[in-house]
Amino acid sequence: MTIDKSKTNWDVVVVGGGPGGALAAKRCAEAGLDTLLLEKRRMPRDKVCTGMVMAQWGQDIVQQEFGEYPDWVEEETIYLAGYALHVPGAETLSLDIRTPTTWRHTLDTWMCESARDAGAEIWDNARLSDLKQEAGRSVLQIKIGAELFELETQFVIGADGAFSTVRNLIYPEFRPPIRVGYRVYFETLVDLPSDRFNMFTAGLEEIFFVHNKGDAMLLEGVAQEGTVDETIERCRQYLIENYALDPDIKPSWRDGCAQPVVSPFLWNGQFRPAEGNVLLVGDAAGVNAPISGEGLTMALKSGVHAAEAVVESHQGNELAEGPYLRKIDEILEVFREISAHGQRIVTALESEDPNEFAEAMLSSWDRSLNAF
Ligand SMILES: Cc1cc2nc3c(=O)[nH]c(=O)nc-3n(C[C@H](O)[C@H](O)[C@H](O)COP(=O)(O)OP(=O)(O)OC[C@H]3O[C@@H](n4cnc5c(N)ncnc54)[C@H](O)[C@@H]3O)c2cc1C
Repeated sequence: MTIDKSKTNWDVVVVGGGPGGALAAKRCAEAGLDTLLLEKRRMPRDKVCTGMVMAQWGQDIVQQEFGEYPDWVEEETIYLAGYALHVPGAETLSLDIRTPTTWRHTLDTWMCESARDAGAEIWDNARLSDLKQEAGRSVLQIKIGAELFELETQFVIGADGAFSTVRNLIYPEFRPPIRVGYRVYFETLVDLPSDRFNMFTAGLEEIFFVHNKGDAMLLEGVAQEGTVDETIERCRQYLIENYALDPDIKPSWRDGCAQPVVSPFLWNGQFRPAEGNVLLVGDAAGVNAPISGEGLTMALKSGVHAAEAVVESHQGNELAEGPYLRKIDEILEVFREISAHGQRIVTALESEDPNEFAEAMLSSWDRSLNAF
């Protein structure tokens, strides 16, 4: 993308070209604000993610805000019939939710292009490296290649993912614990429902997922730092022993990403995702649904709320953190209700009945996906 650096004053700068940032930028531009979106990587960029728009309400947001998938996104999308939960010693349980599952490099590029079509300026390969708030405005330092330069803006929306630079700059003391998300791609299939997102768990400690991508399958999950190799090997052995995965087939690729775990601090009120006119959305804010970890549409939802708060603040006197944090509090109310429902899982685990555990797990997952 061509970058014209001569304009150094903006109404709003959105940092991050994921779904949260793309939609926040689109909404701000539609409201007539001078909007710049910065993405540190070259687009299209991939993201370690299954790419499922998981819940019906999430699919509705995507359609309302962006419309139908264009052909080039649709071509890469598979439609899963829903979820299958496999708990050792229990019957396999299913949850039916038709789920579009695609690669993030196409999905996010499409969303950023919609933001650009709405009037937002998009700069890729442009990294935010510093932010200072001065009298309700922010001065940002941007790095493009080896070049550093400054921009000024009234509002900043930090949609820059779990490792958010914006969050680190406004809350330098906040250092949440790290987990590692992983994906392992095998060019083979195993004896599992082919049209489902297969979830495997024996308790709360570990859960991993397998779903088919055409003639291949993707094994995914989240592990403690330093245990990724052994976790992947344990999951692979489980599939060899129980689902006839051929032990000679080695992964054709794998990737992963470190993920600071912000959500618990958001849920218990220790962390507030806004300061003045700097707002955090999506993974940067830790707005992931309890139980399912649904993050893509929560990023979109918080992106909409951030844009609305910016517009409201631009038209009035209140700093954007006021209207935004009120919306976040409404989301947290719903999250608390989901967490309370999830207490059933703990009780079921204590009963040591695998069927009871599986039912509690699936019903909590269902509750989480039907949150809004
Ligand atoms: C293994 C795994 C599987 C998952 N599967 C699903 C799933 O199927 N469905 C689901 O709903 N959720 C899933 N999630 C969660 C989901 O990926 C995230 O919740 C979602 O991507 C959050 O979107 P976002 O817009 O907040 O941030 P992101 O999508 O992470 O985008 C942030 C962007 O900011 C950019 N950026 C970062 N720092 C800077 C900077 N300093 N300057 C400029 N740009 C910057 C990054 O390059 C990135 O493009 C999964 C997560 C993992 C780890």
